[in-house]
Amino acid sequence: MNQTVRKILNFFYPNCCPVCGAFLLAEETVCDSCAEKMLLEQDGYCHRCGKTNCMCRYKTPAYDKAVAACRYAEETIPAVYAMKNSKNTNFAYFSARILAERLRHGTYYEVQNIDYVIPVPMHPAKQRKRGYNQAGLIARELAALLNLTYREDILYKSGSNIEQHKLRSAKEREKNVESFGIHDISLENRKILLCDDVLTTGSTMNRCAELLKQNHAAVVIAAAASATILHKSEEQEIKKEIII
Ligand SMILES: [Zn+2]
Ligand SMILES: [Zn+2]
Repeated sequence: MNQTVRKILNFFYPNCCPVCGAFLLAEETVCDSCAEKMLLEQDGYCHRCGKTNCMCRYKTPAYDKAVAACRYAEETIPAVYAMKNSKNTNFAYFSARILAERLRHGTYYEVQNIDYVIPVPMHPAKQRKRGYNQAGLIARELAALLNLTYREDILYKSGSNIEQHKLRSAKEREKNVESFGIHDISLENRKILLCDDVLTTGSTMNRCAELLKQNHAAVVIAAAASATILHKSEEQEIKKEIII
């Protein structure tokens, strides 16, 4: 959705903060007080794996770099839920702006060399029901902000339509990520920015990056609108997942 459409919609439907419900100006997405609580500090996660507790020593991710915007915790969960339930999609625009700022900052991500911005795909039946893929909203906005090409015709999802972070066991997650696929499109020397709304253990981003690399993508940068704060039990799960 572009800014003009947003402004028209806001005229009829008041723009509210998706966390606390405060009224906002048309161009605002989250109120200042909630925004401050949602932000994941730039040095609060590993820029290689994207996790709040770096897991690189156990397994090197298939993607090359990672960027994250918010902590997936108490303050952010209502915004993510509102985005998924079609009630308020402000979080997609809020997180895209932060990701764009972080990607532009310094030379680490080499944004100018990125060819395509693509979302982690959603199961088609689920997307039809919801009307959109929330990862697609984030990726599309990010592409617009960075002046890059958005593509959603490269990866697809079939089979299970359960979201990764809702699955507790390593076995279930492993099975779920197998349902991602890639169309027969050569990505020779292409640099890809891959977007998702929540990064938990990183298995979804990892599987998608593996597929992109199978089609010869040169670089994959994982961009997560939010990253979970890993608990000890989740760390154990990741280690188990890696050993399997
Ligand atoms: Zn608020
Ligand atoms: Zn790491």
